[in-house]
Amino acid sequence: MAEFSIIEQYFKQARLYQNNVVLGICDDSAIVSPPPDHELVICTDTLVDGRHFPTTTAAHAIGWKSVAVNLSDLAAMGAIPHSILLAITLPNIDHAWLKNFSQGIFDCCAPYGVDLIGGDTTQGPHLTISVTALGWVKRGQAITRKGACVGDYIVVSGQLGDAAFGLQHLGHPLQHRLDYPSPRCLLGQQIQGFASSMIDLSDGLIQDLKHILNASQVGARLNLEKLPIDTALQQLPSAQQWQYALAGGDDYELCFTISQNNYQQLIQQKLATPLHIIGCIEEPVGLRLYDQEKQKYLDLNGYQHFA
Ligand code: ADP
Ligand code: MG
Repeated sequence: MAEFSIIEQYFKQARLYQNNVVLGICDDSAIVSPPPDHELVICTDTLVDGRHFPTTTAAHAIGWKSVAVNLSDLAAMGAIPHSILLAITLPNIDHAWLKNFSQGIFDCCAPYGVDLIGGDTTQGPHLTISVTALGWVKRGQAITRKGACVGDYIVVSGQLGDAAFGLQHLGHPLQHRLDYPSPRCLLGQQIQGFASSMIDLSDGLIQDLKHILNASQVGARLNLEKLPIDTALQQLPSAQQWQYALAGGDDYELCFTISQNNYQQLIQQKLATPLHIIGCIEEPVGLRLYDQEKQKYLDLNGYQHFA
C-alpha cells in the first residue's frame, strides 16, 4: 500500500478538536493560527525501537508513549498543549500494528484535545518515531529551568521509580507506568504563575534536577525519606529504592521549585496530581542527599545516551 493510503487510513482524524488549525494533514505544511498574546512552545522527542522501549512493547503503548513524552515536555513549561506532528520510519507495513499504534497516538491526544496536524511516513530498517508537539503559553509566562531561588521548596508530582522498576520486572503491574506515562499537562498549567523553575523527569531525578541547579546557579538538599515511592518498591532495601527513584528514568513526573508562600497558595487549588516536597534549594552549588538528617553519598547516575 502506498504511503498516502497509510496516512489517509491511520493518521487522518475525522474531526479536529482545535478550531485554530487552518490546514491540517493534506498539504505541504500545516497552518495554525496562534491565539493573540501567546507564545508558541515547541518540542520534539524521538523513540527508537529497543532503545526507548523494549522490542516486545505493544503497538498501542508505543503510540501512546511517543505522544506522552512530548506532552510532558510541554507540561514542564506550563504550556497548554495544542497539536502534534508525527514522523515515522517503518521497517514494513503491518496493518494490525498500524491500527493499534495510531489508536495509541489518538488515545493519548484525546484527553487534551490535541490534534495530529502533519508528519512524514518513510520506510527504513528500524522502527523510529519522532513526534513534534506544539503548545502555547501567555507571553513571557513559560516556566524554564532557570529561576530556582535559595529557600524554595523542591517539589515532585506523583511517584518516582515506578517505570524503571516496571522495566526490570516486565509483567508487574508497574509496567503500566513504563508503557503508559501520564503527561502532567493539567498540573503544569496549574503550576504556571507559582513555580520559579520546572523540568519533567525523563532521565531520573538526580540528573534532571541538576539541570535546574546548573541553569539557576544554586545548590540543593534532597531528603531521601520524603521521596514518593510505590509500596511495591518499599519492600526493597533502601539503596535499591533510591536507585529506582533517583536514577531510574521514564517517570514523566514534574519537578519544580517554588517559594514557600507560593506553595501554600498553589495547594489551595484542587490539583490534578498529588505533590510531594522532597527538599529545598540552598547554597552552595551542588546536590546533597540526606536520609533522616544523615548525609548520604550515593553513586548514582541517570540514563545517558552515548555513555
Ligand atoms: P511532502 O512530500 O510534501 O512532504 P507528504 O506526502 O510527506 O508531503 O505528506 C502529505 C501530508 O500527509 C502532509 O500534510 C503531511 O504532513 C501528512 N503526513 C505524512 N505522514 C504523516 C504521518 N505519519 N502522520 C500525520 N501526517 C502525516
Ligand atoms: Mg511537499
